[in-house]
Amino acid sequence: MKNKLVFATNNKHKLEEVSAILRNKVELLSLKDINCDVDIPETAETLEGNALLKAQYIHENYALNCFADDTGLEIEVLNNEPGVYSARYAGSEKSSEANMLKVLKNMEGIENRKAQFRTAVSLIINNKQYLFEGIIRGNIIKEKRGNSGFGYDPIFVPEGYDKTFAELGSDIKNKISHRALAINKLCDFLKEFDYEKNNL
Ligand code: IMP
Repeated sequence: MKNKLVFATNNKHKLEEVSAILRNKVELLSLKDINCDVDIPETAETLEGNALLKAQYIHENYALNCFADDTGLEIEVLNNEPGVYSARYAGSEKSSEANMLKVLKNMEGIENRKAQFRTAVSLIINNKQYLFEGIIRGNIIKEKRGNSGFGYDPIFVPEGYDKTFAELGSDIKNKISHRALAINKLCDFLKEFDYEKNNL
């Protein structure tokens, strides 16, 4: 029987990405699977802080092993903005279209297009906290390209590629992305972890 592990999200795209990576390792549960319909507040000022807030909420209220992630797009010339504010960069309605337009507008006429996606993953098992990080570097292009993925994918070209995440598609993105790198670290950790002995 596989060990249960909650991923503190209801984001369909993230669940698909992470399930593909963690396949056969654990039984991944979403917030919906544990009947949690709370929009857990992300009030910290760092990605790490927000990931921890979400993992702590589930651990404290449901007594389940869990992990949570928080991701930001960090653009060099914009002092690493939108960063922790990536979801609501253009306003509280969290529109990807509006967010991308704001980035493109803020970068009009700027030659330095360097950016990175950074994911922080906070895992809580048996009252212990662990942190994992994944980074992928790349460039922001000047107009959107591609239809797959989500968020800022249509304007981000990872280093070593000439297509955006939205053009590369999920198979390639799931192998190289910031989230994949962080989740793979989590996965390596879970492989070594004595889950039975340490489970709640
Ligand atoms: P979250 O807090 O981890 O959900 O990420 C915050 C925001 O960053 C999301 O609303 C997206 O706009 C953006 N984001 C997160 N992951 C990705 C990704 O893999 N590709 C593109 N944008 C992303």
